[in-house]
Amino acid sequence: MNRKSAIEKIQHTAVWDMIVIGGGATGLGIAVDAAKRGFSVLLLEKNDFAKGTSSRSTKLVHGGVRYLAQGNLKLVMDALRERGFLLKNAPHLTRIQQFIIPAYSYWQQLFYGTGLLIYDLLSNKLSLGRTSIIGKKSLLRVMPSLEGRKLKGGIAYSDGQFDDSRLAIALAQTATDLGATVVNYFGVIGLIKENGKVTGVEAMNEIEDITYSILGKTVINATGVFVDQVIGMDDAKTPAMVMPSQGVHLVVSKKFFPGSGALMIPKTTDGRVLFALPWHDSVVIGTTDTPLNIISEEPIALDEEIEFILRNFNQYNALKITRSDVLSVFAGLRPLVKASNTGSTALASRDHTILVSKSNLITITGGKWTTYRKMAKDAVSNAAFVGKLPIIKCSTRNLRLHGYSSQIKYGDQFSSFGSDAEFIIKMIEAQPSLSEKIHPDYEYCQAEVIWSVQNEMAMNVEDYLARRCRLLFLNARAAIESAPLVAQLMAKELGKDADWQQEQVSDFSELASSYLIKV
Ligand SMILES: Cc1cc2nc3c(=O)[nH]c(=O)nc-3n(C[C@H](O)[C@H](O)[C@H](O)COP(=O)(O)OP(=O)(O)OC[C@H]3O[C@@H](n4cnc5c(N)ncnc54)[C@H](O)[C@@H]3O)c2cc1C
Repeated sequence: MNRKSAIEKIQHTAVWDMIVIGGGATGLGIAVDAAKRGFSVLLLEKNDFAKGTSSRSTKLVHGGVRYLAQGNLKLVMDALRERGFLLKNAPHLTRIQQFIIPAYSYWQQLFYGTGLLIYDLLSNKLSLGRTSIIGKKSLLRVMPSLEGRKLKGGIAYSDGQFDDSRLAIALAQTATDLGATVVNYFGVIGLIKENGKVTGVEAMNEIEDITYSILGKTVINATGVFVDQVIGMDDAKTPAMVMPSQGVHLVVSKKFFPGSGALMIPKTTDGRVLFALPWHDSVVIGTTDTPLNIISEEPIALDEEIEFILRNFNQYNALKITRSDVLSVFAGLRPLVKASNTGSTALASRDHTILVSKSNLITITGGKWTTYRKMAKDAVSNAAFVGKLPIIKCSTRNLRLHGYSSQIKYGDQFSSFGSDAEFIIKMIEAQPSLSEKIHPDYEYCQAEVIWSVQNEMAMNVEDYLARRCRLLFLNARAAIESAPLVAQLMAKELGKDADWQQEQVSDFSELASSYLIKV
């Protein structure tokens, strides 16, 4: 994946079959699907891949136990099927995780046990493991810090877990491998129209500050919570489609929640679910569901959201956490499709929606990371129809994603690079100093930074520390401490000077400070 050659391709292509706007889960999935069907496809991302919601999820590949309780069987079944495909096609970025719902009465055990049995049955052949009722002793063995008073036992079930932004990078690479052109820091600023139909986009290369007019037979708007901005470029009078809802997560050290199990709290004080799950040797706790009117590229956790998570988690965990124990806090915006009859975002549909405008702009939003492949399938089929392109069947169900390796175990060093890990190891063999870590407390090493610049389109310190490795999300202070070395390594690769390095460190430190909680 190389930005310079992607831009050369943009300059030398007269008309693309499909232009995809947005490089999150949805847009990248579409680029993979379209390229796999043999279409010429260009994906333009205004920031970095997965800079938006797609790096800020709970990291679950799941059917959604909560949607089952809401009676949304179709959404759950679709997602369970997709969960199965994703775990098979990207074993280096996903894994099976055991979840436990603690029960404080036998009635709760029966109630949740029955629900989860249905969840398991719905996954049919793609089940990840049997749901089981477990006693208090066994529960405390897997989850030793759980509040034991009044505890009767629990229900254990299996779901998937993944690394969201690394999966996005793998999708970008898969699309590229299949012949797509994907490029970051390339924002769409306008639509080109002929006889009332969209025939292309005006796009800005945000790094070199150059504008391009790019033609396409179809244009797909996959910009998550930003879809209404692009729809506005088509027809300013169209009513807003998305109702954003913020979700916040706190990350703490594993010492507060040791053990291998993930906790699922089925009913928080606001009637939602809350998860605490092991992730990269830390624990991610969340999330919230706060309707917002402001859409931002860097959403900020509200104080009441932080307090809500601390309060609800501490009710269940004997080792209490406080604000000062939080290593990083991150917020993401759900692109929920507006439902006219509900003011609550918790009840709004989690399914995806496709809209085709009078001028043939195709917009897709909503859905979940887990269902990105199905969303892509629907979007590409619609686009092929609208663009009068050949009808070719989707064939991504068994498509192994870039880096696929059955040998690599998720969580091992370099596992998120999948089969590319061997090249990183070779880099280190050729230059052993590259095995030095970028921070003493985390395993990320210098060779990974160089690899990400050379092969994963990491263009700045934030791209690396937030989305190629996950240090910003794991420990914002450690990320700030690593920034000078990362800037130095990247500057050498990108041919940048000392001023660039200084600016990078200062910009990144300012951004990362918003991932720290004020105590
Ligand atoms: C708190 C939270 C927790 C979640 N947890 C889970 C989970 O555990 N499992 C799960 O399956 N799903 C989860 N989801 C849902 C999932 O994360 C989202 O459905 C998914 O990431 C949305 O992807 P997207 O590509 O549609 O949007 P985004 O990831 O936001 O991507 C849109 C992209 O478009 C770009 N863009 C915007 N405007 C332009 C423009 N003019 N030109 C070019 N590019 C542009 C943006 O920069 C952005 O990168 C969660 C969501 C939230 C908020």
